[in-house]
Amino acid sequence: MRPSSSTISIPEVRAAFDGRVLAPGDPGYDQARTLFYGGMDKRPAVIVRPVDAAGVAQVVNLARDGGLELAVRSGGHSTVGHSSTDGGILLDLSAMRALEVDPQRRTAWAQTGLTAGQYSTAAAAHGLATGFGDTASVGIGGITLGGGVGYLVRKHGLTIDDLLAAELVTADGQLLHADDQSHPELFWAVRGGGGNFGVATRFRYRLHPVSTIVGGMLLLPATPEVIEGFVAEAAAAPEELSTIANVMVAPPMPFVPAEHHGELVVMALLAYAGDVAAGERAVAPLRGLATPIADLVHPMPYPEIYPPEEEEYHPTAVGRTMFVDRVDHDTAGTIMEYLQASDAPVRVAQLRVLGGAMARVPVEATAFAHRHSRIMVNVAAFYGPTDRAEREAWVEEFAAALRQDDPGAYVNFLGDDSEAGLRAAYPGSTWERLAAVKARYDPTNLFRRNHNIPPAEGPSR
Ligand SMILES: Cc1cc2nc3c(=O)[nH]c(=O)nc-3n(C[C@H](O)[C@H](O)[C@H](O)COP(=O)(O)OP(=O)(O)OC[C@H]3O[C@@H](n4cnc5c(N)ncnc54)[C@H](O)[C@@H]3O)c2cc1C
Repeated sequence: MRPSSSTISIPEVRAAFDGRVLAPGDPGYDQARTLFYGGMDKRPAVIVRPVDAAGVAQVVNLARDGGLELAVRSGGHSTVGHSSTDGGILLDLSAMRALEVDPQRRTAWAQTGLTAGQYSTAAAAHGLATGFGDTASVGIGGITLGGGVGYLVRKHGLTIDDLLAAELVTADGQLLHADDQSHPELFWAVRGGGGNFGVATRFRYRLHPVSTIVGGMLLLPATPEVIEGFVAEAAAAPEELSTIANVMVAPPMPFVPAEHHGELVVMALLAYAGDVAAGERAVAPLRGLATPIADLVHPMPYPEIYPPEEEEYHPTAVGRTMFVDRVDHDTAGTIMEYLQASDAPVRVAQLRVLGGAMARVPVEATAFAHRHSRIMVNVAAFYGPTDRAEREAWVEEFAAALRQDDPGAYVNFLGDDSEAGLRAAYPGSTWERLAAVKARYDPTNLFRRNHNIPPAEGPSR
């Protein structure tokens, strides 16, 4: 049933939240409901921006008591538009951006309205870092709750491997502290289980000494040999090196010589978190795969790995995600074939070699069940006003052609809300355990605008 705005009084909400409220017709409403991805035109009955956990609890109570759908937004980068709602309440965490870094203990308390870039820049002032993803504007809320695969994944693991505690407002409006000792099952669940269990208001992270990295973009011509070689070298490299290789059409950017525009390239983003000389040695085999079209890899302060972004950039894209065991010559050839056969203006196969610290965490330690998956593959295409169905069919077929034996998927890159995707993200006992935690902390499924895990039925409640 679509929730109705008639069950709340906007003037009362405005009074309760001291002006940090936007409703249809207000200046700033359209800007505030805009998500990172275009094509997701949802119209909340009201957008509320609390400044602290008490305010978050008020919003949760309002949604629960008013019977309204509740959407929670940190950075707004949900790949399927979960962080907005038609006719419900949007709880926007963007006014909650406090960060307390303790350089001695190498820990930080961070409010969940921060973005990965804001957190990383502030932590870098102390020569410290926690790993998030590849994009500065992604919110620490969504990426952390789903797992977090980024530039430090092989050296320091997933973002959740550095999560020491979380504070959450649960469906009953209580603020809970979850860690290994306090609500340990809840703490297990929020490390990969997404926003199903409450609104996370603060996270406590471990920080690592990371100052100068050897990082940046390496652009190579795409051939099956280069693609296969890249994955092999990235897997053989020291764990300090994490890589993200985008096989795609060369964009007409200033650092790409004009004669390469429109050609298939491997646009690789590299980060070696360690000694600079060792980093140069680790990157050398990748540079040696072919004559680089562009080589922007150099020693840099860690946050520089995040390129500047345009606020008004809202691509419309469809995608699929999976894990594979190998990218051999045939797989690389398939990637080339599919990318050559499409005429989508942007089309990509992204390859992330995993392993290292991420793989050493026991599978059952967190709700991220894919510790032994070797390579993450995301395929995506941008679409325009008339070709969405065509692009959907292409990504579906492309993904099917690449699929091997690993049945898993990373929840934060799921391209739709299908049951199959959800079960791939949370296989077997992970699903059962998450459903039991859900039944305990959110038995009525108030938090359902997410990759939803319905509460288990039965005695575990
Ligand atoms: C351009 C781009 C690049 C990306 N790169 C990476 C990457 O390199 N590595 C990676 O791991 N992922 C990556 N992702 C995926 C990203 O991690 C997810 O889309 C993530 O959910 C985004 O977090 P957000 O806070 O920005 O999103 P939002 O849209 O704000 O939230 C996403 C989901 O999380 C829930 N949520 C958010 N904050 C909270 C909270 N505080 N409490 C409870 N629930 C909450 C929301 O309700 C929603 O269901 C990328 C996504 C994009 C669009």
